[in-house]
Amino acid sequence: MRTPICSFCARTGILCPKCEEKLRGGHLSKADVEVSVQITKLSEKLPELDKMTLIRAFDVDEDCVLVFKAGDLVTLRRDPETIKKIKLGLQRKVWLVEGETSDRKVIEDLFYPIKITTVNIVWLPDGSKLTKAIVLGRKTERFPIDIDQVKRVAKEVRRIDLLVEFER
Ligand SMILES: [Zn+2]
Repeated sequence: MRTPICSFCARTGILCPKCEEKLRGGHLSKADVEVSVQITKLSEKLPELDKMTLIRAFDVDEDCVLVFKAGDLVTLRRDPETIKKIKLGLQRKVWLVEGETSDRKVIEDLFYPIKITTVNIVWLPDGSKLTKAIVLGRKTERFPIDIDQVKRVAKEVRRIDLLVEFER
């Protein structure tokens, strides 16, 4: 499994001078390092995960956001058992997204498996912008996704100011 830190560091949990330097220089975060070590350990028992590339990791409140290489999520979602084990292994709520992709794709991944019909930009009079996502269907009391947390994750991971509306 590839992670933002080198394989030696990911396996041992001890930072080599090169990764230490990246951490100090702000090219790596504490979350990148911690999650890389945890997920590398998990990948030793999860062959599907072992083929993936983790680009970055974020802590958002108590939750963990894993940013995978574009294309990895399609493969990973075919294997719900592995996803379940990642969540169990990290022992907190996990959000799965991909890096180097569009804002729309990230928003879709955060709402997955709920469908998003439209994503567009709304300009405010002061020149700032919001990204509006419209969720298919209507909001019910049992809507399974914490929308406020999706907004926080979108902001932290992509600097998106997200506005969420329902189709009906
Ligand atoms: Zn290293």
